[in-house]
Amino acid sequence: MATAGIKVLKALIMGPPGCGKGTISERIVKDFAMIHVASGDNLRRQILQGTELGKKAEPYIDDGQLVPDEIMFDLILGELAKLKNANWLLDGFPRTVTQAQAVQKIEPKEVVIDLNVPFEVIIERIKGRWVHIPSGRIYHTEFSPPKVPGKDDVTGEPLEQRHDDKPETVQKRLEAYKKMTEPVLNFYRDEGILTEFTGNYSNEIWPHVHKFLSTKITPLQYTVYK
Ligand code: ATP
Ligand code: MG
Repeated sequence: MATAGIKVLKALIMGPPGCGKGTISERIVKDFAMIHVASGDNLRRQILQGTELGKKAEPYIDDGQLVPDEIMFDLILGELAKLKNANWLLDGFPRTVTQAQAVQKIEPKEVVIDLNVPFEVIIERIKGRWVHIPSGRIYHTEFSPPKVPGKDDVTGEPLEQRHDDKPETVQKRLEAYKKMTEPVLNFYRDEGILTEFTGNYSNEIWPHVHKFLSTKITPLQYTVYK
């Protein structure tokens, strides 16, 4: 909980589908006192729980399209309002200019982290991705394998591949990103709050993100990444 007078950090993490937002976010919230709000994880939990919102969103997700803004507002805006005094890291929202304008009204942000990973690298990488859907924890058979193959490290529950990680759906997600989300990046670039991190792998990008964020918020513990 933030104390009066101490600045609260509102940050966004952006980048194309499969670029490592989830992986980098997990590391950020572990090293800095921030709450991770991930729109895709929230949607998958709603689907798993069979809620009305989940039922409405599911066909869009499976088809690699964006979920309509109104549904996303119902999902995310209330949650952000509850976290007024917390440091948060928003992952996967906003993804359209309309969403960016809505979130700007609630809370102006100071930091936007853009993970810039080439599309061809993403398409290759996504094939090895496995997820623990209830928690959103992400693994990769090569780069961050679970301790026991096919099982979540924390709960031991089975890992799954996302339906929308099929190559043809990934292609559609990348197209939606180009059309709908790249304009959001330009919006933040024009505001002068966008910082871009380029690389092929999360392990390569992460030390730079850590160093950058350490200039904005004190890490929970001192970790030196070389
Ligand atoms: P990754 O999780 O691999 O980085 P991603 O960014 O495409 O990739 P998620 O953020 O998990 O994946 O989102 C999965 C799907 O959920 C999207 O393809 C889209 O259908 C829907 N979705 C998530 N966030 C939004 C949003 N802000 N607006 C509209 N649709 C969304
Ligand atoms: Mg994600």
